[in-house]
Amino acid sequence: MEVILADKAGFCFGVQRAINTAFKAAGEGNVYCYGPLIHNPQEVERLRQAGIDTVADFTQLKQGSSLIIRSHGVPPAVLEKARAQGLNIIDLTCPFVAKAQQHADTLNREGYQVILVGEKQHPEVQSILGYAGQSAIVVELPGDLDGLSLSGKIGVVAQTTQSYGNFSEIVLRLLRLSKELKVFNTICSSTKERQDAARVLASRVDVMIVVGGRNSANTSRLVSLCREAGKPTYHIEVVDEIRPEWLEGATRVGVTAGASTPGWIIEAVVKWLHAGGKKPVT
Ligand code: SF4
Repeated sequence: MEVILADKAGFCFGVQRAINTAFKAAGEGNVYCYGPLIHNPQEVERLRQAGIDTVADFTQLKQGSSLIIRSHGVPPAVLEKARAQGLNIIDLTCPFVAKAQQHADTLNREGYQVILVGEKQHPEVQSILGYAGQSAIVVELPGDLDGLSLSGKIGVVAQTTQSYGNFSEIVLRLLRLSKELKVFNTICSSTKERQDAARVLASRVDVMIVVGGRNSANTSRLVSLCREAGKPTYHIEVVDEIRPEWLEGATRVGVTAGASTPGWIIEAVVKWLHAGGKKPVT
């Protein structure tokens, strides 16, 4: 059985930067992360073992503690509150997310009603929304625009992990619904590269294995893309979840992974597949 790893898979620039900085900061003590640093439970556990606890609420932390802001960023009000509490902020907001926040802020200041294309509950979307003003609306799918009463002056930004197809369809519909439309394409190239590589690979193999956290939006999107390419696709977090019957009759298996999937997890999957489903000797 041939095993092919997608050309682009695993940690993106923003996640790699966040992980490296967090592990470095771990040694300093009293370091907390506001929400899981990345959407990968296994890597979050490694961080916990290194001394970084994840907190959902920072108001109980002692003054002088360090608080990591993950790559998704936070709304400005959250940053102000943490600073006012005397916390030392380690801001690991990905520069591409920070750019989307800036664009949302500029559009709002220029009087545009901001349409943010993304998943309503996603922390990155919530962080960008904090800059987008009171009239901002989150739109997930083109159909969400039905029946909305919009201002004539619309500004658009995207969650960085959006698919181009969905984003452009929404922009096209907005073109018909607005008098003035200003669009910032804030989709991150890492996302597109991973999506393109997954699509190409899915067309060449019999089965796709997509590795990544079940809570990872970009991993789930890779799963959807591979399925749309018509290939049986399985989403796993760790190697032990692979079921041998998935691979029956397959001569080529493709592997890809979301931007928040660490290399050591991908490597274990590839080794397991190369070994024909046996635990590799390490
Ligand atoms: S996917 Fe892009 S925007 Fe998101 S963390 Fe990675 S590099 Fe940054």
